[in-house]
Amino acid sequence: MDNCVFCKIIDGSIPSNKVYEDDKMLAFHDIAPEAPVHVVMIPKAHITSVDALNAENIDYIAHIFSKAGEIAKSVGLENGYRIVTNCGADGGQTVFHIHFHLMGGKKLGKMV
Ligand code: AMP
Ligand code: ZN
Repeated sequence: MDNCVFCKIIDGSIPSNKVYEDDKMLAFHDIAPEAPVHVVMIPKAHITSVDALNAENIDYIAHIFSKAGEIAKSVGLENGYRIVTNCGADGGQTVFHIHFHLMGGKKLGKMV
């Protein structure tokens, strides 16, 4: 997708600090971390948000979650972490390529 910052990170035209990559997903450090460790996990497919998930593209998301624990350990999150996805205006989404925030490195405040 033209003009999508995360598609540009996938194609290498915008640099990122990668922590994991395979043929279906990429994980990199967030440029504006909200926790001591803040990684963004994205599918290598331009899916806009949870709203756009369906039977055809859900495997990308299953794949991300199948790797999340391993990625968390690789960045030192041995004591737990939180995974968040924002959807739409009220959810606070700013990049419209679905992504999962993997955050930790301290005791996180209660959100839900
Ligand atoms: P959201 O607000 O849930 O859509 O999350 C978008 C996230 O992407 C924010 O936490 C941003 O800090 C992060 N972000 C935006 N641009 C970049 C970039 N070029 N490299 C790394 N993280 C980014
Ligand atoms: Zn995209």
